[in-house]
Amino acid sequence: MSSDFHPAGGPETSYDVIVVGGGHAGCEAVAAAARLGAASVLITHRLDRIGAMSCNPAIGGLGKGHLVREIDALDGLMGRVADQAGIQFRMLNRRKGPAVRGPRAQADRRLYAGAMQTALREQGGVAMLEGEVADLVVDHGCCRGVVLADGRVVSARAVVLTTGTFLRGMIHLGEVTTPAGRIGEAPSLALAERLQRLGLRLGRLKTGTPARLDGRTIDYTGLDAQPGDEEPAAFSFMTTNLPAPQVLCHITRTNSETHRLIEANLHRSAMYSGQISGVGPRYCPSIEDKIVRFGERDGHQIFLEPEGLDDPTVYPNGISTSLPAEVQDAFIRTIPGLERARIVQPGYAIEYDYVDPRELGATLELKRLPGLFLAGQINGTTGYEEAGAQGLLAGLNAARLAGGGAALTFARARSYIGVLVDDLVTRGVTEPYRMFTSRAEYRLTLRADNADTRLTPLGIDIGCVGSERRGVFTRKAEELAAAMDLAKSLVITPSEATKAGLALNQDGIRRSAWEILSYPDIDLARLGQVWPALLALPMPIAQQLEIEATYHVYTERQHLEIQALQREENALLPVDMDYTDISGLSNEIRSRLVAARPATLGQASRIYGMTPAALALLLVHARNGRVKAGANSNRAV
Ligand code: FAD
Repeated sequence: MSSDFHPAGGPETSYDVIVVGGGHAGCEAVAAAARLGAASVLITHRLDRIGAMSCNPAIGGLGKGHLVREIDALDGLMGRVADQAGIQFRMLNRRKGPAVRGPRAQADRRLYAGAMQTALREQGGVAMLEGEVADLVVDHGCCRGVVLADGRVVSARAVVLTTGTFLRGMIHLGEVTTPAGRIGEAPSLALAERLQRLGLRLGRLKTGTPARLDGRTIDYTGLDAQPGDEEPAAFSFMTTNLPAPQVLCHITRTNSETHRLIEANLHRSAMYSGQISGVGPRYCPSIEDKIVRFGERDGHQIFLEPEGLDDPTVYPNGISTSLPAEVQDAFIRTIPGLERARIVQPGYAIEYDYVDPRELGATLELKRLPGLFLAGQINGTTGYEEAGAQGLLAGLNAARLAGGGAALTFARARSYIGVLVDDLVTRGVTEPYRMFTSRAEYRLTLRADNADTRLTPLGIDIGCVGSERRGVFTRKAEELAAAMDLAKSLVITPSEATKAGLALNQDGIRRSAWEILSYPDIDLARLGQVWPALLALPMPIAQQLEIEATYHVYTERQHLEIQALQREENALLPVDMDYTDISGLSNEIRSRLVAARPATLGQASRIYGMTPAALALLLVHARNGRVKAGANSNRAV
């Protein structure tokens, strides 16, 4: 146990908010609750494992990078921590439009956990307690605390569970199965049973990880090197310096011999022997899956990613597996550069319980047990970023519940956090859920670059953004507004434009620099030749001005659509609505409505299989006065 954490108090202690689990959801949850002023405690198996990256040492990516920026915009930790620990930054989709660009960083695993632990230590109002939570304290139908395996009782006004892959976790390595939450750590059994006794719908999911290799035994000669960006972009809107040196990754490929060996041993893979019943992430398939599903391909790419600056371990991204260790050893040695690679830790699959997220409201509070919030992999998601985003929302709501504030929900139209939570609570999951930009209807509005504009004012309003960020944000917003005013004030006629070498329609209409910037082939540097004042803008403001000008026509249109959508969204459906009472609904839709218990008509519209006819029936119910339209006591943003 690290001695310099604030220890929690005596055996019977009381807090506003308890967060169980020191993973990515738990860290954001406890920090968010504390930022709102709640006396908070983080209870986790091992304090020295806080912020551990269970799988790949990387943060961000397509869709995921958007979530990190949104967490950061609300003064969360993940972005700043990743900036401290990042050893290779890349903006994915750089050649595509800003809406689908995804910041990603390879992280030094040890630096990441260390920076997260430091951030929590520096966050006032967070106590730490090492131990296993085995039971919940339920009083008058509300969750009011937890019981540890050693009998200690900790009470609180709200509890957030973020137990990741630990609920009845079972590791599979070839034919060998071991109960574990992740390699070397015991699973949570008692807590899983407690959740089952609550009558919650639980399911089984699985995920996997590749072998870790000793980088000193890899021959990089002849492999393609993959450098990071020359001008790395930080995750956090607060970061001014990326302290860690940047490293190279390398790329290699599987080949026909690798595939032959894997195919010959498929019956020994835990996933193909029928040993695992849980469903795995389709978008992050194991190498066995890739070979069975895409057998015609002659090779699959593998990114050799260093796990740290002082650590020779390499993470071979692309070959997660549950084959026996000796088969892993044999197939890895068929891969160029890895002929003599030594396995430090074999890959494995893990199967675990998750709670059907349709058991949750949009605040991430359980419908059946008020006071208990769930966030992260326990809700059927996969990934650090998805976990962190849910942790943030659950932590904010737990603190608001404890303090008597209104519940907070995020709209799909305003953030990827809103998209994530809405997808989970209305549709549930059939496989581990990960974020993609394609899941958002309003991608042009929900960009990674404008997460602060979208969310920091809200964070300031609800009190989860500190004074330092408030100052930085306010200055940036003022500078950007001034830059936009400047660009709108600089106007030119078509004939003046022609003289300046700008090809505009000769229609006699005067256009501003702001309007001309939206033309795909004219950038700020070009306009700076006409109006030198534009070149004097500081670089980050100039870049943001360019993006805002490019998108403003689309985003204005989207704002109108969003307003129209929100009128429908806000029609409330009572949680106890009797769907058997609505004749004309198919049994299938009725049972999905019962499972999801949508809070609004908008949520109902996104349930799988929902038809326009069924929605019309719900609307008729609304008109009959059984469904109220308008605001509820929740704060929807
Ligand atoms: P975790 O990070 O798992 O943290 C859970 C925390 O809860 C731990 O600190 C644990 O000690 C604590 N805890 C659990 N039960 C208790 C209890 N009863 N009492 C006290 N403390 C408790 N993600 C991807 O995006 N892609 C992948 O390919 C991928 N592969 C993975 C492979 C493996 C083998 C594993 C284990 C995970 C993988 N992940 C992957 C998932 C990624 O690690 C998780 O999505 C992320 O860590 C989830 O964060 P979390 O906060 O929900 O849970």
